This record gives sequence, C-alpha cells and structure tokens, in this order.
Amino acid sequence: HETVYAIASGKGGVGKTTTTVNLGTALAEAGERVAIVDADLGMANLAGFVSLSPDSTTLYDVLAGDASIDDATYRLADNIVAVPSGTSLDEYAETSPEGLREAVDELRSQFDYVFLDVGAGISHETVLPLGLADAVILVSTPEPAAVHDSTKTLELTDRSGGSVAGLVLTRTRPDGDISHEEIADRLEVPLLGTIPEDPAARDSVYAGTPLVVFEPDGPASAAYRRLAADLTGVD
Ligand code: ADP
Ligand code: MG
Repeated sequence: HETVYAIASGKGGVGKTTTTVNLGTALAEAGERVAIVDADLGMANLAGFVSLSPDSTTLYDVLAGDASIDDATYRLADNIVAVPSGTSLDEYAETSPEGLREAVDELRSQFDYVFLDVGAGISHETVLPLGLADAVILVSTPEPAAVHDSTKTLELTDRSGGSVAGLVLTRTRPDGDISHEEIADRLEVPLLGTIPEDPAARDSVYAGTPLVVFEPDGPASAAYRRLAADLTGVD
C-alpha cells in the first residue's frame, strides 16, 4: 500500500480533519503505525480534535527551520502520533511550505501510514502536499457545490504530478443524496467509502477525542473502521 496520503478537498468544512483523525486512529487501533500531520497551515485545527496543546513546538517551527520534525511529533495513543501546526499569524508568516517534503520523508521512514490534513482551496501550500503525497484521498460531501469544487482539486493533483486514490463521501444521508456511485463516476475516481451524517462527529470535536474512540459503536465510526480496513486490504 501507499504510505503518504494527502486528505484534500476543494471546498472547506467537508470533513478532511475528521477523516484524517479517524482514519488514522482506526488504522492505529488495527496495529498500524500512523502519523497524522496538520498541513492546513493557515487554518490549523487538528490539535483540538485530539486535545493537543499547540503552544509547544509545531510544524511551523519545522517549516521555519527552527526545529526537527521529531520535536514537533506528539504521541496520541498506541501506534499514533500527531504533528500539529501553530495558530499565530506572525509565526505562520515565517513558515515556508517547501520544507514539508523533507519533513514528510522523515515521517515516511518511521510510520506505516502518514496522513496530511491539507487545507481547502488552491493556494500554493494546499497544492504542494498533493504532489508530494503518494496518493490523494479526495473528501467531499454529496452537495453539488462541494462535488463541483472537487474537480479543481483533481486537476491540481494532476498538474502537480500527484495521483488520486479515490473519493470519500462524508455526511451522507440514507436518502436525498445524489447516488454516491454517480458522484464518483462523474469525478472519474473510485469511491473509497461513505461516512454517514452522525451528530457524534461534532460532539467528539468538543470532547477533543477521536470519534472512533468517543463513540466507537456509532455509524460514522463503523464507516471509518471499514475505510481503514479497505485501505490496508487494497492497493
Ligand atoms: P474540514 O477539515 O474539511 O474543514 P472538518 O473535519 O473540520 O472539515 O468537519 C467540518 C464540520 O463537519 C465539523 O463540525 C465536523 O464535526 C462536521 N462533520 C464531519 N464529519 C461529519 C459527519 N460524518 N457527520 C456529521 N458531522 C460531521
Ligand atoms: Mg480541517
């Protein structure tokens, strides 16, 4: 299987961070060594999902050339670490996304899976991870606006020499959505999985605990575990 995955979307707020945290945690629970990285440099918030304090060394320091990636790596639970980003605009201004490749290569040598939680949109810092990951996992809700914006992420991945593993549809509903297969077909990518709408997703963020730990028996948690199993099985 591929090691480094970029979790990306065109539209913001579609579930990238939720997917990064819960796919990563599900794989760690299955015994894989996992690193999750907050590569959403401008709007970093992964730390809050897992109750990490971003006051100490972060990816910002690594990208500013002031720290090693090991210094910015924090153990979350068995088999899983997180690399948080900072939140200060002044520190953000000091970072240069070019250093990300070296940091990711270091993680690649230490972990079975590395997930980069990439920012939405089309800025340089968003596009760079699409090209340096082994594969891109595209995240979208079934909403037409989000699906439409996904085409841009696919195009940018192509342009930066990256490859797309497939699509994860989040916040799906039992009825009312456009057919999930049809969405994937239209984007011409494999449908890797669907994560149902589940109020526990939001509650887990307030609790600062991964959803798959917060409510392991809920429908979205089950879907993330299935996605994790498929990822280790396929490729
Ligand atoms: P992104 O990282 O793409 O901006 P987030 O992972 O932060 O998106 O999710 C955006 C919002 O959607 C959050 O409030 C999150 O709790 C909620 N959310 C994500 N996945 C689900 C789901 N399966 N069911 C319900 N709410 C969800
Ligand atoms: Mg996010």
